[in-house]
Amino acid sequence: MAGIYIHIPFCHQACNYCNFHFSTSRSKQELFVEALLVETRLNRFALEKVSSLQTVYFGGGTPSILTALQLRRIMDALHSSYTIDPSAEITLEANPEDINPKSLADWLALGINRLSVGVQSFDDDELKWMNRRHSGGDSRRCLDEISSSGFTQYSVDLIYGSPLQSEEILMQNIEVLSGYRVPHISCYALTAELRTALQHIIQKDPSQAPDPDVQAARFGIVTSQLTSLGYEHYEISNFALTGMRSRHNSSYWSGQPYLGLGPSAHSFDGLKIRRWNIANNSLYIQSLQQGVLPFEEEILTEDQALNERVMVSIRTAEGIDLNAMREQYGSEEAGRLLSMSGPYIREGYMALEDERLKLTDAGKFLADGIAAHLFR
Ligand code: SF4
Repeated sequence: MAGIYIHIPFCHQACNYCNFHFSTSRSKQELFVEALLVETRLNRFALEKVSSLQTVYFGGGTPSILTALQLRRIMDALHSSYTIDPSAEITLEANPEDINPKSLADWLALGINRLSVGVQSFDDDELKWMNRRHSGGDSRRCLDEISSSGFTQYSVDLIYGSPLQSEEILMQNIEVLSGYRVPHISCYALTAELRTALQHIIQKDPSQAPDPDVQAARFGIVTSQLTSLGYEHYEISNFALTGMRSRHNSSYWSGQPYLGLGPSAHSFDGLKIRRWNIANNSLYIQSLQQGVLPFEEEILTEDQALNERVMVSIRTAEGIDLNAMREQYGSEEAGRLLSMSGPYIREGYMALEDERLKLTDAGKFLADGIAAHLFR
């Protein structure tokens, strides 16, 4: 399944926890679009032999910041370089402040058929603390508008575990989403990443740091509430109603090749070559003005490729497929993974089902640590 990720590196303002690549200065937005059109034409890494695209994902940054005309030009460039399968999933990340009946109609007309909405919380104090630009009321309004717009597939992002978020606020956030029967929900623990405003806030006032024990308890609430509401917990941070999984993200997790366009975007050939574009808007534009693709690449060793596969697949409901591991890396490797998992299975953090090693609910919050122990 072939997919393209397009990184739109602009935001209206900087959220305090965010370490993605973006600029709040939009003076180069038009030049960026021109450069992206050039890259779309020149860069076919990982997709050289691909005849049709199954998924397109506009991420960022804030893709909903683009004008309808800019998005139209990007979609036209994709159509010129690829056949986009008629049933392709085409997702746009959108923030509540950019969502209105006109923008929704424009996006549908462009062929975008899935939205990922950055709601994060419905609590105004928490949103203000995160330096989000929208209010809880804005999010409710935009969910009403999406529900009556013709978009049947959409996802909402929620953040849990901020120091301002009580258990009651989290429960209310989940209740609002379940009221809308939101088809897909992504839930992330707040983390204090390096070089973010949040990191500075915590340096000055350590009481603002997220508490890992509280976050583990909140993750338990998210998991039990959403699964009891009929959501499938199909990846550590992702929950979907039946048939509403993200096809684009699922293809990352199953190791499929993908091409990333735009500054900071990553690409993978599905085997061992990983590329990433320069994370600087001006240099990205300058390079493409000269017709040069601005990327670096690394060739993964067999150990690195295997470890990555373990790290992403352990996070999914399907778990680590021992038969596939046996086929690709040999019986010895499958045996090693099984024996390394033994203590976790005995302690109830993992289970072996149908030749697949899966995390139990108790193991899910410890996913990264368990994966690291299984690395070769
Ligand atoms: S969280 Fe999203 S909207 Fe906020 S700064 Fe990061 S990319 Fe922009």
